[in-house]
Amino acid sequence: MEKNSLIFVAGHKGLVGSALMRELRSKGYTNLIFKSSAELDLRNQAETEHFFAETRPEYVFLAAARVGGIGANNVHRAEMIYNNLMIESNVIHNSWKYGVKKLLFLGSSCIFPKFAPQPMKEDFLLTSELEYTNEPYAIAKIAGLKLCESYNIQYGTNFISVMPTNLYGENDTFDIENGHVLPTMIRKFHEAKVNGRDFVELWGTGKPKREFLYSGDLAEALVMLMENVSFSDLNKGMSEIRNTHINIGTGTDLTIYELAFIIKDIVGYDGDIVWDTSKPDGTPRKLLDISKIKSFGWKPRTNLTDGIEKVYRWYVRNNASQE
Ligand code: GDP
Repeated sequence: MEKNSLIFVAGHKGLVGSALMRELRSKGYTNLIFKSSAELDLRNQAETEHFFAETRPEYVFLAAARVGGIGANNVHRAEMIYNNLMIESNVIHNSWKYGVKKLLFLGSSCIFPKFAPQPMKEDFLLTSELEYTNEPYAIAKIAGLKLCESYNIQYGTNFISVMPTNLYGENDTFDIENGHVLPTMIRKFHEAKVNGRDFVELWGTGKPKREFLYSGDLAEALVMLMENVSFSDLNKGMSEIRNTHINIGTGTDLTIYELAFIIKDIVGYDGDIVWDTSKPDGTPRKLLDISKIKSFGWKPRTNLTDGIEKVYRWYVRNNASQE
């Protein structure tokens, strides 16, 4: 990838896309293409084809997706599977059709089986059943990485897929019902602090464990992979080419209970926490094995407390109600 290559960042406003834009710009990439969803609806086959035919991007980061936390995944099941399948099919197919040199597709660690041995290696994909709350989303993401793999095998494209763990960072969705746990906790504790509430209600038992990666660290990994790693590096020695995706995480996890106390502390809230056990816990644990990405020379840089402090400051500046 040259500094003046034409690079399409699909989903540039989101948590991952905005971190990618910052990383690409800071590394001197000058020719970035990005479109709002009003300008380009990637779920629409004709619109997407027209865009690729006109623009002819050389490199594509496919960070556009319909995402959400456990609540959104469980309730908006049809939207999760439909929107993601359409976006992936349209972008991946047209990337092949219009000669994209390399594409990087973002999956998610929730594609792994609910009770996979920990830490989860790339090869554990499709070895047993998925977690119910995010099954439609996971099926769509598995389809996305199989699209990439299949186009590579049949057509010789260079499309690679990554499976990031739970992410957090700037431009996240800080939504009580639909957000992921970390930004939602930031908002709940912040609002309880400014409104002087006695307690904050969190979901489930607090016992599940999760791994959290800062979006800026992920963006460094994505650009490094786009610069240095090809599909041929990922299928060496395989008699049947499968599971060529790459996990990206920190290699360590903590309980939701521990996370809650870290965020409560950073926000400076001194009320109580009440656990609403009528809400789902989801997968008990989903820690990624990150040996493969480490073998390419990447490791995470931001420790969890520093990252949450940074994101809390961003939230206060950009979103938070101050009263
Ligand atoms: P997941 O990692 O795909 O399951 O999705 P989330 O990022 O939404 O994390 C869900 C985990 O955090 C589950 O164990 C929830 O029970 C727990 N959790 C605790 N409080 C909250 C909350 O306020 N919002 C969300 N989304 N999850 C919460």
